[in-house]
Amino acid sequence: MSAQIINGKEIAESVRQEISKEVQQLREKNVIPGLAVILVGDNQASQTYVRHKQKACEDLGMHSVLIKKPAELSQEELIQSIAELNQDDSIHGILVQLPLPGHIQEKAIIEAISPEKDVDGFHPINIGRMMTGQDAFLPCTPYGVMVMLEYIDYDLEGKHVVIVGRSNIVGKPAGQLFLNANATVTYCHSRTKDLAYYTKQADVVVAAVGKRDTITSDHIKEGAIVIDVGMNRNDEGKLCGDVAFDEVKNKASYITPVPKGVGPMTITMLMKNTVKSAQKALESNKQA
Ligand code: NDP
Repeated sequence: MSAQIINGKEIAESVRQEISKEVQQLREKNVIPGLAVILVGDNQASQTYVRHKQKACEDLGMHSVLIKKPAELSQEELIQSIAELNQDDSIHGILVQLPLPGHIQEKAIIEAISPEKDVDGFHPINIGRMMTGQDAFLPCTPYGVMVMLEYIDYDLEGKHVVIVGRSNIVGKPAGQLFLNANATVTYCHSRTKDLAYYTKQADVVVAAVGKRDTITSDHIKEGAIVIDVGMNRNDEGKLCGDVAFDEVKNKASYITPVPKGVGPMTITMLMKNTVKSAQKALESNKQA
């Protein structure tokens, strides 16, 4: 048996078509959803990510602003820039591209973004809202994973989901979203003893580790769904995930590839969150 491929690129494209209609509807009401991205320093990978985010905005008819700052910028100066964007009515989403230079505390920066414009879903207020099942901006990568499973009509209720990785931006919130969808969730991480013992029990394995070949066919049960969030490079320098795709695909029922898997979903959900923020701003202006 060979697994069905969950094509993130295709799903992202279909979600973007819906977003495009929402943008159109907002534009008819004279609202152009706006995303501001702050890039500090000249990290190559960050520059690429930021370019993709800007292009996605342009393709969808959204407004995008790139604010480039030198690596020597102080934390106070960065907070000041965020404060200005918090006040700017043409901006509905603010994103500070991570990682930041060592002298700047990520936590302070994330908390400086207004929770109503925190389209990355990293602000503790949004995380708290998500945890308590309230309306929130969901972190884009886990949100994208959920949309992929919806797309294949997979009912998570009562299923056992094992998340490998517990970062604040991927692993932890992914587990919370699965819990909200009534799955039973197990978290594994670098201190987990006998990873395969847990992953072999899973109906769904989500790998968010950042090390290739972390999940092999010995880690999964026959027919499991395998979602690969990892982005790594193989010996030939090609992009690959955390999952040994060629062998795992022969045992899984569904699998996400890398590239064309979770990656395209992440940026798409960022666009979705920005549009949602613009819709909310329009609603609250109407009520004011
Ligand atoms: P982090 O490095 O922040 O977290 C990695 C997690 O993996 C940690 O919780 C760590 O455990 C755990 N871990 C490390 N080694 C092992 C191991 N051998 N067995 C089990 N768990 C292990 O990474 P991120 O969560 O930010 O990202 C994970 C991957 O996803 C990366 O490859 C990243 O590039 C990719 N990514 C992809 C995105 C996309 O859009 N496709 C978006 C964001 C990230 P511990 O907590 O104990 O250290």
